[in-house]
Amino acid sequence: MKGPRGRYAPSPTGDLHLGNARTALLAWLQIRLCGGIFVMRMEDLDCPRVVPGCAKQILDDLEWLGLDWDEGGGSGGTFSPYEQSKRTDLYAAALELLKKQGQVFPCSCSRRDIAMAASAPHGRTAVYPGTCRSRSSSAGENDARSWRYRVPARELVFNDKLVGVYSQNLARDVGDFVVRRADGLYAYQLAVVVDDLLMGITQVVRGIDLLDSTPRQILLFEALGAESPDYWHVPLMSDQGRRMSKRSGSQTITAYRARGGSSSQLVGLLAASVGLVQTGTQISPSELLDEYDVEGFRRRLVDVMKCKSNQNSVSTLKNSISER
Ligand code: GLU
Repeated sequence: MKGPRGRYAPSPTGDLHLGNARTALLAWLQIRLCGGIFVMRMEDLDCPRVVPGCAKQILDDLEWLGLDWDEGGGSGGTFSPYEQSKRTDLYAAALELLKKQGQVFPCSCSRRDIAMAASAPHGRTAVYPGTCRSRSSSAGENDARSWRYRVPARELVFNDKLVGVYSQNLARDVGDFVVRRADGLYAYQLAVVVDDLLMGITQVVRGIDLLDSTPRQILLFEALGAESPDYWHVPLMSDQGRRMSKRSGSQTITAYRARGGSSSQLVGLLAASVGLVQTGTQISPSELLDEYDVEGFRRRLVDVMKCKSNQNSVSTLKNSISER
């Protein structure tokens, strides 16, 4: 498998909002600027949260924006299927491998047990206190709720193409993490690594909210004997200081389209919000390709991310949109 391969991996749990659309646009630009293949993968693993019809709407919105893809999203491809819900046998095989290596263990702790045992809750989720970590991977699964990966006590350092050097001590900051959930579903961390690995992804452009998941993913790549891709974590769009959510109803691409908005205006607004074009520009994604080479694109994003006064706020976009 030769050449760069990138992907966009939406979860069909709600309509595409402005922030998602910008991330998709940036992922597309990055891979097209380096002449690579763009893969569309549907991350519909968390079945209870999947909204019927949503995947189709996301693809339709992305196409309307002027993005295209070479594999997945209805285009098929060598690494089919491109929907996570149809790939569980691959996740199961990866888990088996990790079991054989003795790197995972069955865990019977509930969330409550963990919260109570964790000495210092760290961020939003408590660091796993290691209650079951001495269990062997061949131990009886009878009372196992989930499977966890046993993290090493070392600093994991990687060089993000936009953020720069990022380091995390997995044992201290995260703890042994879940690879198969108590409800039997494979965890995002395992599924995303298996997919990126098997789909030959070399470039991952995604929201910066996933930056702190990346060391866990690099660790899984290592465990599965593969090289990890390059990571480009792009800024998230905020709405009055708050992160945009899937419930950002009026800021969805679907709603924008319903109001008669044009895609060149929206692409211009999204590109301007990360300094790629002047405010007020109307442009298509393919026209944007003429403006940059991949290094110029990278440097532009790095500059914008460094600059505190960047227009990452959706309110500027919202105003322009509501003026229509
Ligand atoms: N499915 C994730 C999302 O929609 C993205 C995962 C990834 O890019 O690694 O936020």
